Amino acid sequence: MNKTADVIIIGGGIVGCAAAYYLAKSGTKNVIVLESTKSIGHGGSCRNGGGVRQSGRDVRELPYAMYGIEHLWPTLSEELGVDVEYTQKGNLRLGKTEAHLKKLQTLADNAKKVGLGVEMVDAKEVQEICPYLSKEIIGASWCPTDGHANPLTTTLGYYKRSLELGVSYYTDAKVASLKKIRGKVRQVILIDGTVFEGEQVILAAGYESRAIARTVGVDLPMTRLIDEMFVTEMQPHMFDIMLGTAAADFYGHQAHHGSFVFGSECGYEEVTDMDDPSKLYTNSMTLSASCRAVMDYVPCLKDAKVVRSWCGWLDNAFDGVPFIGPCLDAEGLIVACGFTGHGFGTAPAVGLMLSQMVHGEKTVVDLSALAPNRFMPNK
Ligand SMILES: Cc1cc2nc3c(=O)[nH]c(=O)nc-3n(C[C@H](O)[C@H](O)[C@H](O)COP(=O)(O)OP(=O)(O)OC[C@H]3O[C@@H](n4cnc5c(N)ncnc54)[C@H](O)[C@@H]3O)c2cc1C
Repeated sequence: MNKTADVIIIGGGIVGCAAAYYLAKSGTKNVIVLESTKSIGHGGSCRNGGGVRQSGRDVRELPYAMYGIEHLWPTLSEELGVDVEYTQKGNLRLGKTEAHLKKLQTLADNAKKVGLGVEMVDAKEVQEICPYLSKEIIGASWCPTDGHANPLTTTLGYYKRSLELGVSYYTDAKVASLKKIRGKVRQVILIDGTVFEGEQVILAAGYESRAIARTVGVDLPMTRLIDEMFVTEMQPHMFDIMLGTAAADFYGHQAHHGSFVFGSECGYEEVTDMDDPSKLYTNSMTLSASCRAVMDYVPCLKDAKVVRSWCGWLDNAFDGVPFIGPCLDAEGLIVACGFTGHGFGTAPAVGLMLSQMVHGEKTVVDLSALAPNRFMPNK
């Protein structure tokens, strides 16, 4: 087993796999990815709703969300050699009350200031864009360049292509701690005591990144929250757009094979058993709440049968945007975590920029607002 590398990546989710791919593509010869579970993409990366959106984001995230949609997603299937099912047909974020519209208007106004093409549409325009929606919807924000993709094929596409380029993956490799050697983070130590050593370390282990970073004195303030998804039986083709709501009670789309894939915050997340991270299951209370939310906005799906449901953990950063960048207090360590439930759509851009950071290059967009040390007191 090779235990030394130019770059060690902790976490085999889409962020880790994408970083590995762009590093290998840019010529880095020796890259190791360590994944704690038995399979790649076991975390949120293969469990998510597939939304590839810019609208509704904090403005600090918009530059790289927009970069990915303009430059990376359109050619990703060809680049990775798998069909990532990228569909760029727009995103309607729906409102049923004046308070909803006010919230959507504020989000749209802020996004426009940084150059995103997003506009408010009224009830009639909503029906023109998507006639399957409830007449109770009084307006929405509309971002025509948003879309969706298949999380499984995208994550595993990055994995497969990076393997072909020589990246080494180790599963069942749970990282316990990091260790500095002569003041620089170099060692990555597994729970069984195995020591890996790298010139640079990328920490992309979702919520678990917090405990790992702490072993070298870095705190990344975030919490963990469960989020769930369900899929319906196949339906006749209705629409290709992505849906969300101002109330954030569901989001989803119709997949290429006809099933609808919905995700939701059912409102019961805080009372779901969160003590044991292995308890990743939905229950009758949460799932029925999610279904009611969908039926309220897409009434024609009221008889569609739910064929499967699942859930995953979100790594919710304290201020709702991720930590991406080098750690000033831990030289050699670059972190990428805290994606707060929307890190799939941005993963290609994040992976590319992680590779640029390793090479000491200027990233394609400025990420200083997402610096891992942003909560540190000013000295
Ligand atoms: C139900 C759900 C729906 C979502 N919907 C969307 C959406 O529509 N659009 C969107 O953009 N985003 C969405 N997200 C968020 C998105 O899935 C994540 O932000 C994204 O997958 C983050 O990727 P990641 O690689 O950072 O994390 P992960 O996929 O969680 O990968 C981290 C990996 O690190 C591994 N790991 C953890 N601890 C250790 C350790 N100690 N040692 C080694 N490895 C470790 C984990 O096993 C995991 O494989 C959703 C998430 C969920 C759960």
